[in-house]
Amino acid sequence: MVQEKFDVIVVGAGPAGLGAAYIMANAGLKVIVFERGEHPGSKNVMGGVLYRQATEDVFPEFWKEAPLERPVVESNYWLTTDDAVTKYGYRSQEFAGEPYNSFTVFRSKFDRWMGRKVEQAGALVICETVVEDIIKEDGKVVGVKTGRPNGQVYADVVVIAEGVNSILTQEALGMQKGYLAWDYLAVAVKEVIALPKEKIEDRFGLEDGKGATIEIIGEATKGMVGTAFIYTNMESISIGVGALMSHLVNRKLNPNDLLENLKAHPAIKPLIAGGEIKEYLGHMIPEGGYKAMPKLYGNGVVIVGDAAQLVNGLHREGSNLALISGKTAGEVIIKAFEKGDFSINSLAEYQQRLADSFVVKDLQKYQHSSGYFEEHPELFYLYPHLASIANKEFFTIDNIPKKEKQRIIMRKVFEQRPKWELVKDLYKLWRVLG
Ligand SMILES: Cc1cc2nc3c(=O)[nH]c(=O)nc-3n(C[C@H](O)[C@H](O)[C@H](O)COP(=O)(O)OP(=O)(O)OC[C@H]3O[C@@H](n4cnc5c(N)ncnc54)[C@H](O)[C@@H]3O)c2cc1C
Repeated sequence: MVQEKFDVIVVGAGPAGLGAAYIMANAGLKVIVFERGEHPGSKNVMGGVLYRQATEDVFPEFWKEAPLERPVVESNYWLTTDDAVTKYGYRSQEFAGEPYNSFTVFRSKFDRWMGRKVEQAGALVICETVVEDIIKEDGKVVGVKTGRPNGQVYADVVVIAEGVNSILTQEALGMQKGYLAWDYLAVAVKEVIALPKEKIEDRFGLEDGKGATIEIIGEATKGMVGTAFIYTNMESISIGVGALMSHLVNRKLNPNDLLENLKAHPAIKPLIAGGEIKEYLGHMIPEGGYKAMPKLYGNGVVIVGDAAQLVNGLHREGSNLALISGKTAGEVIIKAFEKGDFSINSLAEYQQRLADSFVVKDLQKYQHSSGYFEEHPELFYLYPHLASIANKEFFTIDNIPKKEKQRIIMRKVFEQRPKWELVKDLYKLWRVLG
């Protein structure tokens, strides 16, 4: 076991930890990364859409060498009922070439690549090693205790990047146990279904090597707060669904049943027909947003990525927030080394800089949404149904004059949700999302 002291210890080799480690190792700091998995990415689950801009901010021109699946040229939102779907989407050829907008990826491959880049930059990446505890002296974090024999390792700064449900964050900041309320945790499952490349391109109407994404709400989550997704990889499709754990428990449903239900939907079944399930994965997602965000720094410690609750669930963004928080933390730590000051005041700059970036600004914008949706899960079910009722009437050609049609649509919609309730919903949605 490594006995010497490092400049920085990073706990967790996901995008947040590896992003921080890469920036710091490139600046010449002595960095060690601990990862509990067999290799970076072996324990990591993502839908997974990786965003070019944030990734490039850390790994310039990564798309020229990193293992990616398809550049995403088309993004869709589907509102489902049990037998119908209302679709909204956007496709652009501009997304098909450099500098690209986003890519589908497998985290098991992509994180492994990031790990190699971090090693090439001079950091140590030690896998199959669990960090069990934080070591503090006089109130300052000075190292970590790993699960290895004589496993104490010391450093001037510790970066906690261990992902969702971070017990180390609680310990490092001296927070009350139970702070990480499970009410705001979602659980998601995903299958990777193998299909020939050409079949995927035919079914999704894609040109050679290009990709599409579909986000789904409505029947897919049985009226619970959550979403489902379908993403095209080169020779497979990732399909998954997630919902708030508290809603799953209350409804006595499990995510696997949701996934089977999703796969059987008449609009989805043909997309995956004949495919072979290659992988089944499950993971939690911190959905608490701004209100659940802990303080992001302490004496000798910073918190990045999911461990800091930096996930924008409404926009399906997490990896980019993780990378940018890791990069920002890395830059602040480099500055702390230049000043020789690792105190709480010096590291506070990390939170200030993040607050000025899209990471915290976006979470702040949606800060009331998680509480609102948790209390009003019916909106996730009702509105896809209303859209279906209206569209069914609109697209049914049955010799009824259009004016009469309009009246029928309004009547059917108001039967489901009275006019004043609709106005109230729209006003509240505007307040929490606007
Ligand atoms: C089903 C699903 C779909 C998603 N889809 C998307 C998407 O399409 N696009 C997107 O941008 N985001 C998506 N996200 C969110 C995204 O995956 C996360 O926000 C992102 O991975 C956070 O990165 P991180 O580095 O903070 O944490 P993680 O990626 O979770 O990495 C944490 C690492 O720390 C390791 N670790 C944990 N505890 C310890 C310990 N004690 N000691 C040592 N190592 C430890 C873990 O093994 C892991 O490797 C999705 C999440 C889920 C669950």
